[in-house]
Amino acid sequence: MKLVLKIATSVLFLFVLKVSYGQTLMDSLSSQMILQEMEISIEDDEVSIDSLISLLNVGNIDSTTVPAAKLYGYVWNNQLVNPYQKRMVDMTDTVCIDFSQYCHPNRNVVTSDFGFRRGWRFHYGIDTRLKVGDSICSSFDGMVRISKRGKAYGNYIVIRHFNGLETVYAHLSKTMVQVNQVVRAGEIIGLGGNTGRSTGPHLHYEIRYLGQPIAPRDLIDWQTYSAKFNMAALDAQHFAYVKEIEKIRYYVVRKGDTLSGISLKTGVSISKICQLNNIKKTSILRIGQRLRFS
Ligand SMILES: [Zn+2]
Repeated sequence: MKLVLKIATSVLFLFVLKVSYGQTLMDSLSSQMILQEMEISIEDDEVSIDSLISLLNVGNIDSTTVPAAKLYGYVWNNQLVNPYQKRMVDMTDTVCIDFSQYCHPNRNVVTSDFGFRRGWRFHYGIDTRLKVGDSICSSFDGMVRISKRGKAYGNYIVIRHFNGLETVYAHLSKTMVQVNQVVRAGEIIGLGGNTGRSTGPHLHYEIRYLGQPIAPRDLIDWQTYSAKFNMAALDAQHFAYVKEIEKIRYYVVRKGDTLSGISLKTGVSISKICQLNNIKKTSILRIGQRLRFS
């Protein structure tokens, strides 16, 4: 399935090329350069190009240019939130992102911030309380890359913007835009809700660059609901949290394990393990449970 999705992405890339440069699909397909750029090889003879094209909703992309197409290596995927798999913490230069047209998606109180939750789970967005049915707006001009229902996100939308960012709007009660639709900054794209893995009506909002989330508060002021900068300078520091995530080590609980036994095996004190996992010394451990110990 992963291969199919990767190839599907590349076919859409070829399609975009066809649109942009007037090449035919088969001409493009024979181009080794393109295949190398996509880091894939089409070796699976059973995958027909027709079946791949039918996987994609490419009908609406015609005269419209996919935003930031070159920056994203011409990848335009309608299924995966992060099909790019870039390690942004290693970026060496600083990029300037135009925030001048920023519109706040939903003016409300923050209930959960970007960062670690319960010791080790990482929250890649910011949550704001709302009432089911509240309007949700696009932050910038852009094109809808994903509009569908997911297990965790519920009804959600991903928009690629012309300034190079992508934004995610999740747990919506209703999506009001289609894949490949062009939207304007401030345009209502959906209604707030409580769908997916959600324990109350809220908006889960993410700002991503080349697939990697950024702490929204680095860029947005939740007091004034406006951007902190007209032009934001983005560098590796904005992705430094990835190194903290990579430091995390887990112990998987086996039959007969106790906290004191795990403490001996890992060399980490019981109180530290409890603190990292937000559990008590008396908590009952489940077999297969992952306990963070560093
Ligand atoms: Zn959230």
